[in-house]
Amino acid sequence: MNDDRHYMERVLELASRGTGLTFPNPLVGAVIVAGGEIAGEGFHAGAGKPHAEIEAIAAAGESARGADLYLNLEPCCHHGRTPPCTDAIVEAGISRVIFGIFDPDERVRGQGARRLRENGTEIETGVMAREALELNLPYIHRSLTGGPFVMLKLAVTLDGRITLTGEKYISCSDSLECVHGLRARLEAVAVGSGTLRADDPSLDRRLYDRPLDPPVRIVFDSSLAFPPGHPWLEKGERVILCCSEAADAARIEELEGAGAEVTRLPPGDGGLDLHAWRRDLSNRGITSVLVEGGARIATSMMKAGIPDRLVLFHAPVIAGAGEKGWYQDDPPPAFGEDPPAVGGDLSLSYVEVIDGDVMTVYDRKHVSGYLEAVTKEPGDVHGID
Ligand SMILES: [Zn+2]
Repeated sequence: MNDDRHYMERVLELASRGTGLTFPNPLVGAVIVAGGEIAGEGFHAGAGKPHAEIEAIAAAGESARGADLYLNLEPCCHHGRTPPCTDAIVEAGISRVIFGIFDPDERVRGQGARRLRENGTEIETGVMAREALELNLPYIHRSLTGGPFVMLKLAVTLDGRITLTGEKYISCSDSLECVHGLRARLEAVAVGSGTLRADDPSLDRRLYDRPLDPPVRIVFDSSLAFPPGHPWLEKGERVILCCSEAADAARIEELEGAGAEVTRLPPGDGGLDLHAWRRDLSNRGITSVLVEGGARIATSMMKAGIPDRLVLFHAPVIAGAGEKGWYQDDPPPAFGEDPPAVGGDLSLSYVEVIDGDVMTVYDRKHVSGYLEAVTKEPGDVHGID
């Protein structure tokens, strides 16, 4: 079991090398172990490219026969852009496959494991399942719900403020690095037009020192103030502008002509209908979004119950009442009146100390239930399929 863990750690490390490159595919790493030695390794480097299993089998060559194959995710058994990995595993003569979690994609869902077993391959599952789930959480969410995974991230002071006069950033530099890591894991980044005007963030992403393709940028921009000459559009990068139904048709045409995608959303609590927004993203094939503020967007998101995960970076500083809070309860409830219940089914998932800051991660109830969903064999006698 300790050996299994050791090799699975390597698998996860390999898998994460594909971070930011594989949308809409999951991150997958593979390690082949023969006679107590690593005989071959691989990872998935992007949609349309070989799957991790295939890379590892090619690297191991003849030593794959009778060997163990470690994977974070159940191997695929369907013809996509590449042939099924289960066929390649059987053909290579792998005798045992150890994977972290089942793939909830409806084309797999336990059938990968079943296919291997039918061909005499031994199967073990659940090794480092929690870590394997965390690595592909947005993918798992999309496979199970069909919708994009929405993560709301905020940097806050101890008194919950998101501004600090005279400081560009509230968070420490290690937290800012961590945000780049979050951006790399999600396909799109969303901000309000106010934040864009005030901070002019590039919303780029990089992984360690390696720059990645920019995320899809989503801007909440009711009145379409976004400039058609913005550098993102000039560079041909994907931008989705979310405006109200009342937005000017000529302006929409102008922005679309400049390369932007424009989506008109019905009115909702505090601005635009965010449920319609999420459906629209799904229709556009967006798998995951990191919402980076500001306060108005964060508040509307929380009120509408949109974020699947909330991530707060707490900095050890008190900003004072003169600064802006991240949750804008406007108007505040009268004395003696109960505040509206917001984010009721959020619960603490984990906490990480990042240099001087603390990162707290909260998940909605459905997200907390994913571990059970991906560790139970689909379609078995106790399972539901
Ligand atoms: Zn595959």
